[in-house]
Amino acid sequence: MSEAAPAPAVHKHFIRQIIDADLASGKVPSVVTRFPPEPNGYLHIGHAKSICLNFGLALEYAGQCHLRMDDTNPTKEDVEYVDSIREDVKWLGFDWGEHYYQASDYFDFMYECALKLIRAGKAYVCHLTQDQLREYRGDLKTPGKNSPWRDRSVEENLAEFEKMRSGAYEEGKALLRAKIDMASPNVHLRDPAVYRIRKVAHHNTGDKWCVYPMYDFAHPLEDAYEKITHSICTLEFEVHRPLYDWLIDNIPGLPGRPHQHEFARLNLTYTVMSKRKLLELVQEKRVSGWDDPRMPTISGLRRRGVTPAAIRKFCETIGVTKFNSLTDVALLEHAIREDLNKTSARAMAVLHPVKVVIENFPEGHVEWLDAVNNPEDPAAGTRKVPFTRELYVEADDFMEVAPKKYFRLTPGQEVRFRWAYFVKCVGVEKDADGNVTVVRCTYDPETRGGDAPDGRKVKGTIHWVSASHGGKVEVRLYDRLFNKQDLNDDSDGKDWREHLNPDSLKVITGFVEPELLKSAPGARFQFERVGYFCADAKDSKPGAPVFNRTVALKDSFAKEMAKA
Ligand code: ATP
Ligand code: MG
Repeated sequence: MSEAAPAPAVHKHFIRQIIDADLASGKVPSVVTRFPPEPNGYLHIGHAKSICLNFGLALEYAGQCHLRMDDTNPTKEDVEYVDSIREDVKWLGFDWGEHYYQASDYFDFMYECALKLIRAGKAYVCHLTQDQLREYRGDLKTPGKNSPWRDRSVEENLAEFEKMRSGAYEEGKALLRAKIDMASPNVHLRDPAVYRIRKVAHHNTGDKWCVYPMYDFAHPLEDAYEKITHSICTLEFEVHRPLYDWLIDNIPGLPGRPHQHEFARLNLTYTVMSKRKLLELVQEKRVSGWDDPRMPTISGLRRRGVTPAAIRKFCETIGVTKFNSLTDVALLEHAIREDLNKTSARAMAVLHPVKVVIENFPEGHVEWLDAVNNPEDPAAGTRKVPFTRELYVEADDFMEVAPKKYFRLTPGQEVRFRWAYFVKCVGVEKDADGNVTVVRCTYDPETRGGDAPDGRKVKGTIHWVSASHGGKVEVRLYDRLFNKQDLNDDSDGKDWREHLNPDSLKVITGFVEPELLKSAPGARFQFERVGYFCADAKDSKPGAPVFNRTVALKDSFAKEMAKA
């Protein structure tokens, strides 16, 4: 009997299958992919899916993946965006090596391609106005009409295109169109625009050009120029593929023959993914910037404390399909927790403090106890935590009148203080309004380390911080930025901004063990029993870290939403 085959290391999604077949048949000698962001915003978790796919395939198949700034549009580019994109791709763990490109470097080549189309009688300069173009285009049910300029001679088109290039025409007065088929059922083939006049300087080419290629024309040519084999894009480009292929097949002498393959984009619950909307959140100051830890941007996730490994794992888990769907953001949070659980050091922090006084512990005395840094990682070692007469514990770890199954601090009950002693609550002090100000306790010196020599057990273990040796820190409790599941669904007629979660950020003061005060910016921790946190990379100062909550220990949000 044969044994069952081991599970494959990765899911053989349809793009992997296509590549396998293309390599096996000899259609391509090796795999060349690209990630082509338009530098008009910061990258987000949706882009991460595309980055992991494109760079991941290049790694798996020992090919190469190019990082290409798709900067053919002269108005929107910004160096800040270019820099952030490069940083984010690197941070995710990918390397383009020498293959960093800018589409605007190919303007000469693209212009030559346009000339080739004209010479082949497959492109013409058209002077229809915007309104006329719309009218002549027809729609899904009605075929389009031929432009009156469609049958110009090659010579006339060359002269007209030259007039466009030299600035003789104002914007909107002339357009170069591919001559394909005005009756095609695919409207993208109805003599699409390939070059338009834009009298705007370009961040890379300056004033050299006043004609710029349209996206649908530029993209296949960029791919062909770089000899991309598999040009992977999102599903909405499926209907553009016939034009992509037409251009590649009708422009002679291209360096490569790329093929376009489409996959479903990532949509996440409670998350806005459109660059335009993210820009609006920044401009309207609804968040502190592109890297606000609540943003779904790579820089926001990084600042929040998410690891690149967690993002890569998430992207592999969700897979690659041809069906648009909405992925539960809880899946991302799960990947983040799983990774941080393995890698982050444990520490004790009390976020909503109530004071504990250990009556039988000498005043001024300090005991330095050993605490394990990461039970998941023995190599992480131990650290010392100071135990003193006055401590802080979480307010909800004490109840004056507790129900039966409450195993934390309540008068007469003994609990374990993590890494320290058995501690018993013996009374409370209250202010004039009846609020508990101090929980009075005693400790059992025989239970150092957390076990009793007489074998008696306690049911609860709670964390604590020394009031005299711990430190105050600012803690930013982040939650989901929106409180609506599907933000693509606007059937309620409301503006998407109305679904911003008013409680997505709460700033509080917490008490942390002294070791945490030395945290380097960006350092990640599990605050035991509380959640995963990281020292904010921007606002932390030496000795005064600011902590961001990356994610709570458990998915309490789902429960809250179910109750609401
Ligand atoms: P826009 O077209 O509004 O500028 P975009 O999200 O398409 O937005 P690009 O910079 O063109 O921005 O995207 C770069 C690459 O990332 C593209 O190949 C695109 O297919 C891919 N991409 C963008 N959003 C997602 C997403 N949500 N899921 C997967 N891939 C995405
Ligand atoms: Mg795009």
